[in-house]
Amino acid sequence: MAPTEESGAHALRDPAHHPLQNLVIIGSGPAGYTAAIYAARANLSPLLITGFQKGGIPGGQLMTTTHVENYPGFPDGILGPDLMDRCKAQAVRWGTKLLEVDAISVDLSHRPYTITTSDSEIIRTQSLILATGASANRLHLPHEDDFWSRGISACAICDGATPQFRQESLAVVGGGDSACEEAVYLTKYGSHVHLIVRSEKLRASAAMADRVLANSAITVHWNAEVLDVQGTDWLEALTLRDRSSGGLNQLAVKGLFYAIGHTPNTDLFQDQLQLDSKGYILTRPGRPETSLEGVFAAGDVADAEWRQGITAAGSGCQAALAAERWLSHHDLAVTVARDSIDPEPSGTPMRTATSDADNYSQDLSWQKGAYALRRLYHESNKPLLVIYTSPTCGPCHVLKPQLKRVLNELDGKAQGVEIDIDVDQEIAAQAGITGTPTVQLFFNKELKNTWRGVKQRTEFRQAVESLL
Ligand code: NDP
Repeated sequence: MAPTEESGAHALRDPAHHPLQNLVIIGSGPAGYTAAIYAARANLSPLLITGFQKGGIPGGQLMTTTHVENYPGFPDGILGPDLMDRCKAQAVRWGTKLLEVDAISVDLSHRPYTITTSDSEIIRTQSLILATGASANRLHLPHEDDFWSRGISACAICDGATPQFRQESLAVVGGGDSACEEAVYLTKYGSHVHLIVRSEKLRASAAMADRVLANSAITVHWNAEVLDVQGTDWLEALTLRDRSSGGLNQLAVKGLFYAIGHTPNTDLFQDQLQLDSKGYILTRPGRPETSLEGVFAAGDVADAEWRQGITAAGSGCQAALAAERWLSHHDLAVTVARDSIDPEPSGTPMRTATSDADNYSQDLSWQKGAYALRRLYHESNKPLLVIYTSPTCGPCHVLKPQLKRVLNELDGKAQGVEIDIDVDQEIAAQAGITGTPTVQLFFNKELKNTWRGVKQRTEFRQAVESLL
């Protein structure tokens, strides 16, 4: 498995053969990576399964957030994907092994526990930290993906203060405590907030509901349903349906915030661990221990209430310390001393320079920018994968290294170009790009395939191989 270029991470080199692990961490959000940092520094040589498509993208919910301004240590804020790149690099620097696949099943019926991955590997481990997170529920509107992070957000607390929302009309969907809290919070930034409630009552606690109803900056739309969203580059309006009369109307807003609950990513653990009625993993109060010996939970998968990056990171730390204590108490840990006491600095991520007439090469497997695209499109006789990205797009961070891996595996038989649609707007418009990441496959100046969003790398590889 090739190192992940963007993060400078060293991925596991021989995934086919795994010795019995001390500790496997499933999940690559702030909880998973923090657990990994602590466990790696305790010389437990943890294996972290990042996930790929199941339960959201690797890096978790912060990968689909723009500016994170409430994570301590970054006084001017940090982009969600950049924060996760740093967490990943820190975990790897201290000796975490990464498997960039999905865990597709887990057998917790006996120890050592076993995990089967989407690459059909079977991994055995003495202990486990489950940090698979939760997915914010979405409405799945017809044009939702076009405006995700361009007006639509699942977290008002995270995204509400961004400049695009200031002094604009905003909308929140939901009628629970989260929706009410977010509506009130957003009145600090927006000019007016519309709360869209599907029934004729709020599910929220009375105190919270009263606060909303007494706030003149909030209008509640009862019995209302969002049918779709419209806009150009940014969200501009919603189509609402009145569920009692069936009447439709347009509501002009620059922000739409979902607060319609979360679903914990616990389908792998059903019937194996104690879960609460909503599917969250039950742990000992305030602690990471689950109902099974040697199995710990951290982050949103066991937290229906706080759900912040920093609380997830804190609980990841607790889970790793608890796992370490449990392993040593049972004399199960096989510690692995690092080669040097102080590992090498993680280094700054390598970024691909934009190609121009001076540094363009016909033979490079990966280049960037419109110049390289034009030259390769006209002159290369190899299949050409073009990825359209934008700077704050978390899924693009995930997909780019995967495409580079495909090209490495194909050993020069195909080439890749990255187009930043902010920089090369004309190219993006010509290619009909409506969102990022989008990947197009060209061969002999013909468009052979288009993929939108994150896909398994085997899909790209098979499509390229079919042309060779
Ligand atoms: P809830 O599950 O309590 O509420 C979800 C809301 O979304 C409900 O009003 C529900 O409507 C609505 N909804 C669900 N699906 C849809 C849909 N498809 N279309 C439109 N509306 C939909 O989730 P919360 O995140 O609000 O709260 C989770 C837990 O966290 C609760 O226990 C809450 O009390 C707690 N919490 C406490 C806070 C506090 O005390 N400060 C702050 C935030 C959360 P309906 O009512 O019709 O089912």
